[in-house]
Amino acid sequence: MKIGVFGGTFNPPHQGHLAAARTAISALGLDKLLIIPAAIPPHKELPEGTPAPEHRLAMAEKMADALLAPGVAEASGLELTRTGKSYTSDTLERLREQYPDDELWLLMGTDMFLTLHLWHKPETILKLAGVCAFGRSEQDTEEVFAPQREHLQKTFPGAKITTITLPGLVDVSSTQLRELLAGGEGEEYLYPAVYGYILMHGLYGVRADLKRLDIPELRACSYSMVMQKRVRHIRGTEEEAVRLARRWGANENYARRAGILHDCTKYLSGGEHIAICEKYGVPLDELERKAAKLLHSKTGACIARHVFGEPDEVYEAIFWHTTAKADMTTLEKILYVADYMEPNRSFDGVERLRELAYSDLDRALLLGVETTIQEMKDRSLPVHKSTLRAQAWLREQGVTTEG
Ligand code: ATP
Repeated sequence: MKIGVFGGTFNPPHQGHLAAARTAISALGLDKLLIIPAAIPPHKELPEGTPAPEHRLAMAEKMADALLAPGVAEASGLELTRTGKSYTSDTLERLREQYPDDELWLLMGTDMFLTLHLWHKPETILKLAGVCAFGRSEQDTEEVFAPQREHLQKTFPGAKITTITLPGLVDVSSTQLRELLAGGEGEEYLYPAVYGYILMHGLYGVRADLKRLDIPELRACSYSMVMQKRVRHIRGTEEEAVRLARRWGANENYARRAGILHDCTKYLSGGEHIAICEKYGVPLDELERKAAKLLHSKTGACIARHVFGEPDEVYEAIFWHTTAKADMTTLEKILYVADYMEPNRSFDGVERLRELAYSDLDRALLLGVETTIQEMKDRSLPVHKSTLRAQAWLREQGVTTEG
């Protein structure tokens, strides 16, 4: 197995780190990439206001997840849990024990590469791992790399050194970014989920009122709470909900905000869902207690209301977006249907649902509700009572899916 080792302070991880990691995975053909934030970097002081280790690890996890390489990229707390200076040679020795038969590749930008001979135990580093260096700016050309490569190869015979070129250079450092963030700028250098994490935890002097976020910030916070593979669906639901709101005369802003937040608690554990429901006084029946899929709509609504200050309309739309219910408002119907048929969904019958959504919203809702009921029956799972009530309510009004 080929394992990339990407160390740094990642304080915070930015688009430059992400571009380097993404390119290294494909250029080196890595089977695994470990992103390892340093506890105490040997080369530099951690600046005042550096977030606690758990925050830096969480941001590194967001960076790993952003690479959308499940099973390949992961963040490691190896250095954060070790006391003393975070020497790369110690880390590589530990990794060598853990992966005795695998090929290790240490990834680093120009600044690190040019000083590598001055690091603690460079001979150990170059014995245990190959080095993959990449430029950080336009100035970092082969002329910059070549003398150092030759010097290292001469001083440490057998050293494996390769240089890769990043197609999308992002000329920024975490130091510059921290300054920008403290001045209310710089989010363009951050992956949205990392920016959202910073906003939600008030890191780097960013003081956002979570109850008054505008749309890009609200998106970033929502994306910071979920796995990145879900973001496409969330984005699709937001856009579909806005289109449907326009078509059916509902509040577009509420539709957008409900779409953005509807799945924000999707990845919480059963215990976390129950704790939120207890905290905010949401009663749960037996079925809901056992089914996280049913709980995420209720807890998502709670977070929308209590953390992000969303109004009742948005709360209710999120609350009912999984089960539906009798007497739904237009906005509630819209979120339910948008979630079902947004452009990334594909299942037998989705085209008909898409057509109905724009010609007859109630029929689309009934089709969604009955598709769910059928699916539950096929899988021998119980159907939630609110879903059955939604079906009865629509049928009583003469709504039908036939024709
Ligand atoms: P700081 O400004 O706090 O020193 P930094 O931006 O240099 O931080 P580090 O976490 O120290 O980030 O860097 C980790 C690794 O990523 C290093 O090998 C560094 O060279 C590389 N790196 C940092 N920024 C970029 C960038 N913009 N493009 C490519 N590689 C980068």
